[in-house]
Amino acid sequence: MQNTPLELKIAHLYPDLLNIYGDFGNILALEKRAKWRDIRVEVVHVKSGTQINADDYDLFFAGGGQDAQQILAANEFLKNANELSRAAYALKPMLAICGSYQLFGKYYTTGDGQKIRGISLLDVSTSAGKKRFIGNVTAICDFLPVRTIVGFENHSGVTYLGEKAKPLFKIKVGNGNNGVDRTEGARYKNVFGTYLHGPILPKNPHFCDYLLELALNTKYKCKIPLLPLEDSLEYYAHESRICAKY
Ligand code: GLN
Repeated sequence: MQNTPLELKIAHLYPDLLNIYGDFGNILALEKRAKWRDIRVEVVHVKSGTQINADDYDLFFAGGGQDAQQILAANEFLKNANELSRAAYALKPMLAICGSYQLFGKYYTTGDGQKIRGISLLDVSTSAGKKRFIGNVTAICDFLPVRTIVGFENHSGVTYLGEKAKPLFKIKVGNGNNGVDRTEGARYKNVFGTYLHGPILPKNPHFCDYLLELALNTKYKCKIPLLPLEDSLEYYAHESRICAKY
């Protein structure tokens, strides 16, 4: 295998419905940081109505969305729930941002009381709160070499974790899941949900590389460390967003 180039196929789920606050930048970060290491990357923008086969992809990404788009996206997720669940249990990394994070959970109840069923890949439940959480976030990550995570939140959803979900990050500045328990996001196996736009991956290259390594390790069934990149600009951007109050 050492002479054949590494390959990754990334599913960008429903960008026609879930792609707000620059979340497309996460796909660019995954694609570029893989290609800069001579990994062959194919990104498939999975449009509404497309049937997903878990075997076709190595990594899954879904962005944020407003309530109206979430209702449409939930139907797409539910139609593909078995295959998305099969991908999750095959330890293929999946990253869901904000609106799709909520739909990867058990349900999202909108501000006007509509209960949107999720696909329960994450044991989280969300209901729209009275107040909108908007602003820069600084959080702490306990599973990466660089421990700070920066991003931007803009959601009315208030999310609480059930016993099968672990918090993804710990809030230092900002609200995160609910503005009460200082948790941000959730993780189960290699399924990651977070409220952080930004987009999160260009601003946190260590998290982007972690997802790429998980995808390679799962696909090739061995540990494939990524070559380091010259990331001075990326970390200049990262450090410039660490909230002063931190
Ligand atoms: N509509 C959801 C909320 O307001 C998600 C918004 C988003 O994806 N930024 O909580």
